[in-house]
This record gives sequence, C-alpha cells and structure tokens, in this order.
Amino acid sequence: MTIFISLFMLIIVLIINFFYRKRARELEERNKKLEALTAENTKVNQQLQNTLSLLTEANQKLKDLDRLKDEFVSVASHELRTPMTAIRSYAWMALHRSDTPLSKTMEKYLVRVLMSTERMINLVNDLLNISRIESGRIEIIPEPVDLISLCRDIVDEVYYSKSTAKDIQMVLLESAIPKVMADPEKLRQVLINIVGNAVKFSPPGGKITIGFLNSGKMVDIYIKDEGPGIAPADLSRLFQKFGRLDNSFTAAASSGGSGLGLFISKSLIELMHGRIWASSEGAGKGATFTISLPVV
Ligand code: ADP
Repeated sequence: MTIFISLFMLIIVLIINFFYRKRARELEERNKKLEALTAENTKVNQQLQNTLSLLTEANQKLKDLDRLKDEFVSVASHELRTPMTAIRSYAWMALHRSDTPLSKTMEKYLVRVLMSTERMINLVNDLLNISRIESGRIEIIPEPVDLISLCRDIVDEVYYSKSTAKDIQMVLLESAIPKVMADPEKLRQVLINIVGNAVKFSPPGGKITIGFLNSGKMVDIYIKDEGPGIAPADLSRLFQKFGRLDNSFTAAASSGGSGLGLFISKSLIELMHGRIWASSEGAGKGATFTISLPVV
C-alpha cells in the first residue's frame, strides 16, 4: 500500500514538474520576445530622437533664414529709400522749380517719374513696416488721442492731396466722443491708409463719410465709401499680407497698391488693443471700414 501511495505521489510530482517546466519554458520564450520588443523599441526611440534632432536643426536653420530674410528686407528697403527720395525731390524740383519752361511731353514724363517714385517709396515703407512688425521692433507709444481733431487733419491732408482730382465729397460727422488710447502717429498712418483707399476706390463724384460711435468702453470710427464694395468671400482675406483682391470686382478700380496697407493697419491697431474690420453690402454698394479703440 505504502509503495502504491509513494508511486502515486511520484507520478503527481512528475506531472507537476512537467507542467512547471513547460510554464517556465513558455515564460522564458515570452521574456525573450519581450527583450526583442524592448530592443526594437529602443531602436525606434533612437530613430525618433535622431529625427527630432534633425527637425530641431532644420527648424533652427529656417528661423535663421527667416531672420536673414527680415534683415535683408530691412537693409535693402533702407538703402533703396535714400536714392528714391532723391529722385522724387529732383523730379519735383524739375517740375515746379525749373528755370527753363518745360514742354508738355517733358512735363508728362516728369509727372510719371514722380508718381512712380512715390509708389516705390510707399512700397518700400510698407516693407520696412512689415519687417519691424514681424520682428517685434515696432514701438507703440499710447497716449490720449482726440479722434475728431485727428480726423479733421486727415480729411484735409487726403482731400487736398488725392480726392480733389476725382471731385469726391468728404463728410466728417462730428459727435461728442471721449478721447481714446492710441499711438497718434501710427493711428494717423492707419487712417490715411483707410481714407486713402476709400478715395482710391470711390467713383468720381462719390461721397466718403467718416463718423463715430461711442459704446462706453470703446469708440468706433467708421469710414464709408460709395466704391465697388467687397464680395463677402473676400472680406476674410482683405487683411492678409498681399491681400489685393485681384479676382474681385474691386480689381476693376485699378488700385495699383501693394496689398500690404491693410495688413499693416490691422497689426498696428491690434498692438494698440483695438480692432479693425470691413463690411460691405456687396457689389457696387460701397464698403465700410471700422476701427474700434479703447477709451482712455
Ligand atoms: P492696396 O495698397 O492694394 O490698396 P491694402 O492692403 O490697403 O492694399 O488693400 C488691400 C485690398 O483691399 C485692395 O487691393 C482692394 O482690393 C481692397 N480694398 C481696400 N479698401 C477698399 C475699399 N474701400 N473698397 C473696396 N476694396 C477695398
């Protein structure tokens, strides 16, 4: 009986041993697989690290190139502006201060030289402004600004320089508004751009209205024209860089601009904690540009 029990126990031990070894083998195999997977993982990780450092390097190179581009635009614009200003002055003197009377043809040529030089100077100034804005070098010095008197100056300036030839009527709707917090020179630059655009896109004899709305914390200035208007689809890309709407009906009014003015205006107004937007009821119904600025 004892022998029988011992045999039985031995068989049980052998069976347990068999299963134990089988399980141990399985675990060992699994371990090996895990090790292989870990090795593979480490390899993939290493590859990812390499790709990451390549991307970081490429990103740095792109940033360096971008900085070089900004520097180039800035230096080239400065260098171009000096001779162009000289050409403009001499063309102006040849037209207005010449000792010898000019023939009609010569006068026509000189007027064209003057106009083209002015356009080039404006473009160069726009490029300089953009490079300053994008590199964060633009300085905004806010102070309380009387919008009504600033707009009076701008109406005079733009009216006498641009709108008389097209016989455009400019109406300034003065109302009691508080002073706003803004950089007067930069705001002047923005308003000249917007009012200048209104004149540029107005039909001969058209009316431009400048008015104000006081909503308590903000004052809105709106500039409304009777020009070709802006299609709803174009409203969103109006303030983008080089946002000339060449495919829209505004292209009909050969604008001859760079498409940078509104991008610069938006950047400057946002730096002054304000907002700028455009609205239009559609083709032929004119456009309204509104600038909203914080009250002092
Ligand atoms: P540009 O120097 O070409 O005028 P802007 O950035 O000032 O550059 O204007 C971008 C574009 O927005 C213009 O080319 C024109 O298509 C459109 N635009 C601007 N103002 C008006 C307006 N008052 N009426 C219709 N379209 C306008």
